[in-house]
Amino acid sequence: MEIFKTLNLQKDIQNNDIENTENVRCLIIGSGPAGYTAAIYASRANLKPVLYTGLEMGGQLTTTTDVDNYPGYPGGVTGPIMMEDFKKQAERFGAVIRFGIVTEVDFSGKKHKVITDDKKVIIADAVIIATGATAKYLGLASETKYAGMGVSACATCDGFFYRGKDVAVVGGGDTAAEEATYLAGLCKKVYLVVRRDTLRASKVMQDKVLATKNIEILWEHETIDLFGVNGVEGVTLVKKKGTSDEEIVKIKIDGFFLAIGHTPNTEVFKKYLETDKVGYIKTVPGTSKTNVAGVFAAGDVQDPHYRQAITAAGSGCMAAIDAERYLSELK
Ligand code: FAD
Ligand code: NAP
Repeated sequence: MEIFKTLNLQKDIQNNDIENTENVRCLIIGSGPAGYTAAIYASRANLKPVLYTGLEMGGQLTTTTDVDNYPGYPGGVTGPIMMEDFKKQAERFGAVIRFGIVTEVDFSGKKHKVITDDKKVIIADAVIIATGATAKYLGLASETKYAGMGVSACATCDGFFYRGKDVAVVGGGDTAAEEATYLAGLCKKVYLVVRRDTLRASKVMQDKVLATKNIEILWEHETIDLFGVNGVEGVTLVKKKGTSDEEIVKIKIDGFFLAIGHTPNTEVFKKYLETDKVGYIKTVPGTSKTNVAGVFAAGDVQDPHYRQAITAAGSGCMAAIDAERYLSELK
């Protein structure tokens, strides 16, 4: 992407090529539950946080309708309203929220340099990274057409809506095995659509799937399309694609769950921060600390396991407290 073109940050700063250099005590990157919660705690601790929202203002929850599992909303809430509430709460305590994307960082010095898409240079004492992770989709037009109408990439979030119904889960890794097993506890029938003749999931997860009576594995099936009038009513698959036994298969389902992996939004930080093999930022267990002093990570960007709004918010709180302690020791 053009905005991610390489910039020589140190040189730019030395040469004063870039106008608008700003010193910030605590910079927060990302406006999902983790970023906004960090902003609430950081502003209340008088860290005068500046938060850059990224392209998806409000984060992943702005792409969903009902959020029924976030405590404090007994009647449920829509994702966009909930995230607007988070934002207002952060602003109430003085957090500065700016629309903008972080395109480059330099974490080599004691102060952390961050550049945004409008070429502003922020010199921050502490940085909290809360840029989330993005679920992978197959790339079918019908996934977009039925978004929020039967297509989901989060069984824990949406499984409840499919109680007693039939669903399909696509994928063969640990996530797919976990999602299928979870859904099997709620749904009448779960089809696990696997593109090869073997699962990638760990042995223990495979055993669980195979032992669950209402999961049927559709081996060597690939998804072609989804169909339905007012939402997903079925999926069209191709079995043994490219062989003489190739066959088109249509199954009736009410929900279609993607479980083919997530991409953590860490590309811009990778030069400086340790990540796992998928790209999730590694933090010191039980903290939000990264391998760089003064740089903290919160939410899905450092969490391959839970990826929930409540866990993201909780770790945003941790990051702000860690940042506050770090800054108080800097004095
Ligand atoms: P995100 O919400 O992903 O936010 C990341 C933020 O980082 C965004 O604002 C983005 O713009 C910003 N960003 C990214 N890159 C940059 C950059 N370079 N510069 C600046 N900003 C950047 N969880 C639940 O608990 N309950 C639910 O019901 C539920 N439903 C869901 C439904 C859907 C459709 C999806 C996709 C997820 C759902 N989840 C649900 C999961 C939940 O949304 C995530 O766990 C949560 O949003 C993670 O919060 P986060 O703050 O870590 O990241
Ligand atoms: P993953 O291990 O990369 O597996 C992705 C799965 O999706 C693979 O089976 C892959 O098929 C399939 N897939 C990818 N693209 C596809 C496409 N276009 N069409 C159909 N299928 C497609 O991802 P993950 O399952 O999310 O796991 C990520 C990491 O988190 C792993 O290290 C995993 O062990 C870990 N994890 C652990 C747990 C746990 O321990 N409880 C739970 C979840 C995740 P192929 O196999 O054919 O490539």
